[in-house]
Amino acid sequence: MTGNTHKTIYCDHSATTPVAPEVAEEMQRVMREVWGNPSSVHQTGRAAKVELELARERLAEHLGAARNEIIFTGGGTESDNLALRGIAEAFREQGNHIITSRVEHHAILHTCEALENNGFEVTYLEVDEHGRVDPRDVEAAITAETILISIMHANNEIGTINPIDAIGRIAHEHGIVFHTDAVQTFGKLPIDVQELPVDALSISGHKIYGPKGIGVLYVNKNIDIRPQLTGGSQERNLRAGTENLPAIAGLTRAVQFILQHRDEETDRLRSLQQHLEAALSEALPEAHIHGHPHHRIPGLTHVGFPGVDGESLVLNLDMRGIHVSSGSACSSGSITPSHVLLAMGYDEKTARQAIRISLGKSNTMEDIPLIVQAVTEETERIRSANARKHSRMTPV
Ligand code: PLP
Repeated sequence: MTGNTHKTIYCDHSATTPVAPEVAEEMQRVMREVWGNPSSVHQTGRAAKVELELARERLAEHLGAARNEIIFTGGGTESDNLALRGIAEAFREQGNHIITSRVEHHAILHTCEALENNGFEVTYLEVDEHGRVDPRDVEAAITAETILISIMHANNEIGTINPIDAIGRIAHEHGIVFHTDAVQTFGKLPIDVQELPVDALSISGHKIYGPKGIGVLYVNKNIDIRPQLTGGSQERNLRAGTENLPAIAGLTRAVQFILQHRDEETDRLRSLQQHLEAALSEALPEAHIHGHPHHRIPGLTHVGFPGVDGESLVLNLDMRGIHVSSGSACSSGSITPSHVLLAMGYDEKTARQAIRISLGKSNTMEDIPLIVQAVTEETERIRSANARKHSRMTPV
């Protein structure tokens, strides 16, 4: 119990989304009715296998992929790990160089660090002041040893969308495998692997109104990849372990749910975002919106307030029922400032003075003035408390 009497306004959809009711229903159906092991040969098992392959077929269709290009994983982190480690291992004989960017999710960055400890060399590309990777930098970083390029489709903290089309084309011109982390964009931006020059792509269930702990790695069937979880022969020997069928069915239902009205929802979120940013800038002229002015995830606003600690603002807003974050969910609570803002050229102090407001299906235009009013009052409250603290500390 928080004791607050305010209505909850959830604005942290980039951290996670609520499970859609139809997704929960579908998962319950599978748990109750299709609980067999898809590897069993009897009818109970075969029924589960049918369900599993149906889910795979539907997912493949939504992505423009073939069925044997879909690997179910335990989430976005595992998809990223499998892509990087699995492809690096498979291409080890051809070279040891990997290119990524400084603003990737830690699922990529920490995996790259682990690969460096295993003899790989990694180039971490710089980004511009909007957090965007320049395709020319990708090309300039390529060496005869480069085997893999991994650049995220859009950044989870500031929402900047990368030109992955151009980056993928460069990778392919040089015969290099291209992976993208699409955890924040799948369901929001059009993604068809027939059209995008990507060889591997990561998706997570809980960012699209599906369950947690389930993800997909798309891998082009012509790309060699080594399993990172060994055991049984599930997922064409690429990911051992009895498949989490309720979650797989839930994810597949979530994909249908999010893609059904994707374009209308994208337009609606963009409009909410524009109203929010205009109102915030009017009420708080010192507020600074981070990320690319145009190439940004619809509904995601990362905004800095000079002199206001982001963590404190998150906590104060939480008391008023407004749920936002002070960066990516994974780095929030840690004392280090956002690696993304630092890479964009902000100093440590500025990097700590920001929050992320990520809107989703539950948000409406009515929420905007409530959010803006709460942010205005709470930034003022924090600044006044800072001023009082400062005056007490200043010797007279
Ligand atoms: N990649 C990005 C860009 C993300 O935003 C996240 C989650 O925040 C992940 C990967 C990890 O996904 P999961 O939480 O499913 O492991």
